[in-house]
Amino acid sequence: MSEVLLQVEELETHLFTKEGVLKPVNGVSFHVGRGETVGLVGESGCGKTMTALSIMGLVPNPPGRIVGGAIRLDGEDLLQLDDRTLRTRRSVHMGMIFQDASTALNPTMRVGDQISETMQRHLGMSRGEAALHATEILDRVGIPAAEQRLDDYPHQFSGGMRQRVMIAIAICCNPDLLIADEPTTALDVTIQAQLLDLVLELKEDVGKSVLWITHDLGVVAELCDRVMVMYAGQVVEEATVEELFLRPRHPYTAGLLDSMPTLEERRQESLKTIEGMPPNMARMPSGCAFHPRCEYASERCVEEAPALERSGGDGLVACWHPLYIEG
Ligand code: SF4
Repeated sequence: MSEVLLQVEELETHLFTKEGVLKPVNGVSFHVGRGETVGLVGESGCGKTMTALSIMGLVPNPPGRIVGGAIRLDGEDLLQLDDRTLRTRRSVHMGMIFQDASTALNPTMRVGDQISETMQRHLGMSRGEAALHATEILDRVGIPAAEQRLDDYPHQFSGGMRQRVMIAIAICCNPDLLIADEPTTALDVTIQAQLLDLVLELKEDVGKSVLWITHDLGVVAELCDRVMVMYAGQVVEEATVEELFLRPRHPYTAGLLDSMPTLEERRQESLKTIEGMPPNMARMPSGCAFHPRCEYASERCVEEAPALERSGGDGLVACWHPLYIEG
């Protein structure tokens, strides 16, 4: 078994719209190791969610389509599989926790049936076996009186408990890789902390790999081993969490770190922000896509796009003038 579980290579997912061809995922490459938790961060609209949907084979078509690259899970390129095999790989080897449980769960189906059905279909369990296993899983994700709650519908659970049900569905087939797309955004901070603890526990217990998508660098600091920063459909920096927080190389990463609220700022509600707006994907800037917002931009930045390259140590950065260069 290889140490790399997921390898994404030069992935390109385009949206074919009336405004033209948009490129929310524009040549994205990264890997997730076995047992590793990797963060994918950036502002809304930078391509994080579309990257996750591409890996899961859930890109809405139309208007979206994967037009290039490879997504290898344990060495097997998912983009070469037929729909049926891909569905099985997706359900058995990967689990996705979405932003909003109320849209991801089926409102007309009891939660016990939603968990059991997945296991019956993909693991060949009998109805009785699946029901038993569903109780164990609900219990494991911290739902009190799990056996009684199997018969409840999603609307009978609180927001935090619905997220736990969705985690139960994502892990019921014991997948190797969990993809979590901002699963705590809509929850209050106490429930957020409980869910982060739950994912950490699952990771420790069974050595799962996790790809955690978020705009919140605080979550990254708490959960992740390594982090990729995305901007305008591309990875612009990759580093260990420690390196990224100590020595950000890309000006955009430095801006994201600067906009993390300190305790004082939380009290005063005066947050720093990165100047300007992310680019409109229908009218991308020339050269480095960050140049209109970057205080270090030079003529070269306006004319030529930098590639993601090693910048000392294990870090990668796509910038002509990185803020930190290892000597
Ligand atoms: Fe700024 Fe230039 Fe680096 Fe882009 S390439 S982030 S514009 S310094």
